[in-house]
Amino acid sequence: MTARDPIADLRRIAFLLERANEATYRVRAFRSAANALAALPAKEVAERARSGKLTELSGVGDVTARCVVESLAGDEPVYLRRLVATEGTDLDAEAAALRTALRGDCHTHSDWSDGGSPIEEMALAAAELGHEYVVLTDHSPRLKVARGLTADRLRRQLDHVAKLNDALPEGFRILTGIEVDILADGSLDQDDGLLARLDVVVGSVHSGLNDERGKMTRRMLAAIANPHLDILGHCTGRMVSSRPAGVTGPGDRAHRPRTRSESDFDADAVFAACAERDVAVEINSRPERQDPPKRLIRRALEAGCLFAINTDAHAPGQLDWQRFGCERAARCGVPADRVVNTWSADQLVAWAAKR
Ligand SMILES: [Zn+2]
Ligand SMILES: [Zn+2]
Repeated sequence: MTARDPIADLRRIAFLLERANEATYRVRAFRSAANALAALPAKEVAERARSGKLTELSGVGDVTARCVVESLAGDEPVYLRRLVATEGTDLDAEAAALRTALRGDCHTHSDWSDGGSPIEEMALAAAELGHEYVVLTDHSPRLKVARGLTADRLRRQLDHVAKLNDALPEGFRILTGIEVDILADGSLDQDDGLLARLDVVVGSVHSGLNDERGKMTRRMLAAIANPHLDILGHCTGRMVSSRPAGVTGPGDRAHRPRTRSESDFDADAVFAACAERDVAVEINSRPERQDPPKRLIRRALEAGCLFAINTDAHAPGQLDWQRFGCERAARCGVPADRVVNTWSADQLVAWAAKR
């Protein structure tokens, strides 16, 4: 084990971020951390890294501290490695290629829960965008504010979707699904038998978002271990901005506009479990969510996870938001073959059924 120079790594990250035209505050975070550490004896930096006390220094946050720890362990920091991996690539072109490779959307809502439009309108809009399928994932019973579907209503919805599929144009399918709440103990908020019938199950945390780290980690790990779960939805629960301008209308109440910080959980443990169980990590494209943040997309990629680039659309126009998710995925170097919705509907359903 040969330690690297953590200060040089932080400065290199700042340089690459700057060159990639990333937000100034992000660049500054790495430069500030480099400066804070440069002012200390190397021995103290190493000691603080060992005892987890780097973040007590002004100018050093969780992300920069992790880079320092990785550096001192002799590893190229994940953050730097992913930046280097995308260096020199035309990210706009990469994002566009990723968007073109997407054949469907695995997280959408209709007016059966808190969406604003009937299922058929969502389906027709998705078909017009060039999708081959759309997974209908209305909310589960406990999410009452979003009119979550009881088991009975979900059964009725399945019958309704079967009829709609008979009438839809050749080459396009509505796949059945749910955005099921991950409850406080990590169980999923719907009947097991029903979950087994669905093509794709997205599981999300919508309550107790401030659970302490250990509790939240156990809760997420329990959900990931559930054989019905296929995709881990918006894993940090953060809200980076209020609802985007011009987006109004009914529903969407599970995704109320307000900012909210990330839930605290052991991301390495959660992503390792996702990779092991073949659960895809959602890259949620909603502008107010942008979830997970890029540093966590990079970690999930390093962990070997699959991804799903979803819109979480609550209205037909929002189905076009996938490009936002693709931009963020491209910046993190996510390859198309790791994204489950670049697969055909048959491949997707077979993957989901396998677990
Ligand atoms: Zn949600
Ligand atoms: Zn949703």
